[in-house]
Amino acid sequence: KKTVFSGVQPSGALTIGNYIGSIRNWVDLQDDYNCFYCIVDLHAITVPQVPKDLRKNTLDLLALYLASGLDPKKSAIFIQSHISPHAELTWVLDTITYMGQLNRMTQFKEKSKRSEENLNAGLFTYPVLMASDILLYQADLVPVGEDQKQHLELARDLAERFNNRYSETFKVPDPLIKKVGARIMSLQNPEFKMSKSDDNENGYILLLDKPDAINRKIKRAVTDSYGEVKYRDEQPGVKNLINIYSAFSGDSIKEIERKYEGTGYGQFKKDLSEVVVEGLKPLQEKYDYYMKNKDYLEEIYKEGAEKAEIVARKTLRKVYKKVGFIPRR
Ligand code: ATP
Ligand code: MG
Repeated sequence: KKTVFSGVQPSGALTIGNYIGSIRNWVDLQDDYNCFYCIVDLHAITVPQVPKDLRKNTLDLLALYLASGLDPKKSAIFIQSHISPHAELTWVLDTITYMGQLNRMTQFKEKSKRSEENLNAGLFTYPVLMASDILLYQADLVPVGEDQKQHLELARDLAERFNNRYSETFKVPDPLIKKVGARIMSLQNPEFKMSKSDDNENGYILLLDKPDAINRKIKRAVTDSYGEVKYRDEQPGVKNLINIYSAFSGDSIKEIERKYEGTGYGQFKKDLSEVVVEGLKPLQEKYDYYMKNKDYLEEIYKEGAEKAEIVARKTLRKVYKKVGFIPRR
């Protein structure tokens, strides 16, 4: 069986972008792959986090993983900071990563603009930690949203560089980016991707948003003066809403365009709200169920860590040996 690795940061409540672009696609992979699904808390602290919120967000995210259909019997579901090899491999990979490569990372450029008062080294080396996550499990496939493509290329590059410099050690991973929904944009500013760490809460829809919040945000979503429900680049706001509609309803872009031919944005937005509310309902109900069972959540991440640790330690041991560290007896 081939291996899959992916993760989400517990850096805030999840948006429908995270769900459509990422987690939703993880579920089906569980039957055919050996899957590792991680809650990447080490990544989350590259921007300031309030400790008690981070703890809450971590458990929330675990409950959302389960509510989305991740199955702890099939997959290893775990918390990144429980497996110390993530940090340890990052150090080794840091030493073969060029500053110039990291300087070119668009996520760093964007995030450092947003938090100039906290321009820390961790934000800069974020992609190296991500490479470690992936390479530790010898992942073949990494299902992510479009925004992570550049980071994945770095992971491939580091794997190849290490393999060339020492000897064959890492699998070179491939990204798995779906065509539909790989890049959901902000409702307020469709030039930017929807992000859970956006300051403007009208820019995103959260997985746990109540129906009235969803209605309000969609009503306020930026459109244009064309007044047509058409999927084209000149109408980025509408295009994004059509993508969301399609992702939740399963209707094709063409079907949606045809359905709303000649109607204004009002009816389209009203229907879209309903589609999203209905689409999120089962997930929200399951989430509530899991959040009532904290003991169960604890069991899941404990078991997940046990499964993950075996694989991670094995890779790290190999790496340490290859670079010339003497093993502790
Ligand atoms: P942050 O703003 O804190 O970085 P985020 O919303 O970007 O939060 P991440 O935890 O960085 O979330 O990413 C988790 C996964 O969600 C990744 O696979 C990423 O590619 C995907 N993703 C994030 N935003 C979007 C989006 N707008 N559309 C589609 N996929 C997305
Ligand atoms: Mg992100």
